[in-house]
Amino acid sequence: MTLSDAMTEGEPAQVAECISCAGGTLERDRISTALWRGADLVVIEGIPALVCQSCGERYFEDEVAMALDMMRDGSGAKEPPARIMSVPVFEFAPPGSPQTGKGPS
Ligand SMILES: [Zn+2]
Repeated sequence: MTLSDAMTEGEPAQVAECISCAGGTLERDRISTALWRGADLVVIEGIPALVCQSCGERYFEDEVAMALDMMRDGSGAKEPPARIMSVPVFEFAPPGSPQTGKGPS
């Protein structure tokens, strides 16, 4: 048996249980995330991650986290993007704050 045989491939390397909620089961999944690249918001899909089945906390393995960092600074993202999507943008408004104008009367 070689060293690489001893290392189980495809298994979670660092974490087997959720740290956030102490004990939630982590399952392999593919997720999307949005990140700011300078002034641009970009969405990255199909990221392999470990997702807590209890609280939804997401964990990335080192190489995935590094690849995401590279995509954030632009060097790792292959242009052109797979697709372009438009997103609604809202102005922050605390709950219960009056709308501008009085609304229906
Ligand atoms: Zn959890």
